[in-house]
Amino acid sequence: MKERNTEVSIEIDRSKWHKPSYLGHYDEKATHYEGLRARCLKCGKSFVFSAEAQKQAFEVEQRYPCWLPTLCPTCSQEWKVLEETILQYEHSWEANRRVLARDREFLRKWLALLQEARPYGKKHFESRVRMLVKTIAKSE
Ligand SMILES: [Zn+2]
Repeated sequence: MKERNTEVSIEIDRSKWHKPSYLGHYDEKATHYEGLRARCLKCGKSFVFSAEAQKQAFEVEQRYPCWLPTLCPTCSQEWKVLEETILQYEHSWEANRRVLARDREFLRKWLALLQEARPYGKKHFESRVRMLVKTIAKSE
């Protein structure tokens, strides 16, 4: 579903796309990006994937031009903060696993953070969650 945005007009430069022949959201006659409406996986709110954000995603980050963000800007920002915190736990664990395996507070906090990641559609922590549940059970 496309939504016209008359304020911002950003030209499509297909030569910078991952695959210039790929159509994605646009037919070959399209010359400018248009805001696209998407729904956030986390909060369920509808948001606009702006022309500017598309240029960044498709021409700089080399995402396929059929890609749509799954999170709204607010949830995406929240996710970045949460992900950063999870990475800090991951690094502490790598550095000090033997001691932390008996630190129930550390383990519980880390587990809670990983469970918080689920509604953001981040499922790649599930094996970590299982490991933590086991480690916590052993520490009790
Ligand atoms: Zn959201």
